[in-house]
Amino acid sequence: MAEQTKGLCKYCGKEYTKGGMLRHLPACKKRKEKLESEKGKRKCSYFQIVIMAKYSKKYWLIIEVSENITLKELDKFIRDIWVECCGHLSAYEINGISYELYPDKDIFWGTPARHMNYRLRDVVKVGDNISYEYDFGSATELILNVHSYREGVRTADEVVILSRNNPIEIICSQCGKNKAKWVNPEAYYDEKPFWCEECLKEEAGMEDICGIEYMLPVCNSPRMGVCGYEGSTRYPDQFEPDK
Ligand SMILES: [Zn+2]
Ligand SMILES: [Zn+2]
Ligand SMILES: [Zn+2]
Repeated sequence: MAEQTKGLCKYCGKEYTKGGMLRHLPACKKRKEKLESEKGKRKCSYFQIVIMAKYSKKYWLIIEVSENITLKELDKFIRDIWVECCGHLSAYEINGISYELYPDKDIFWGTPARHMNYRLRDVVKVGDNISYEYDFGSATELILNVHSYREGVRTADEVVILSRNNPIEIICSQCGKNKAKWVNPEAYYDEKPFWCEECLKEEAGMEDICGIEYMLPVCNSPRMGVCGYEGSTRYPDQFEPDK
């Protein structure tokens, strides 16, 4: 069995696997203290959502969002942290209904897609699994599990990351020694897609440098090596817990 990736708890910094983290979060003392210290008259309910890559269990995010967040706002977060490369289209499928940014109104049969301006609380409940797809050409497919629900004080944060998998260490497939920094999207499904800095320099010395330009950086995302994906500009690959 493949080794499970671990991540850090936002509140106390302890490291767990995804399953361990889901058990830890409701029991985390630091988190309890933080939530109890939050003051305000206005209440709000929150969904805890586990976002996973459909075909690789190594990539996961555990987030908390207000139940009032729209699907569009959640789409923006997913794009920012994991998938955005060239402004491709995206869609959710929730209980048999599609939600898109620009739903096609001229549909003659089937259930027409809805717009993403629906609020989460109006379309999901705890236990639901949402399918999400970014870029229908070379798609990145995700599953969003609506894990749990809590009531609390209303805060300004739209999306709070509770934990995410630490960057996965990938070894250069040329030398088999160094940490890989680059992935060749053309060879992604071949045997040797990963390159370290040294091997790439050596290769560039022998061949035309133009051949190197299409290399994509190794990054902490299930979209690594796909289309022109270069990683997130907003979130670091290594999740930083609170101080
Ligand atoms: Zn903790
Ligand atoms: Zn793209
Ligand atoms: Zn190497």
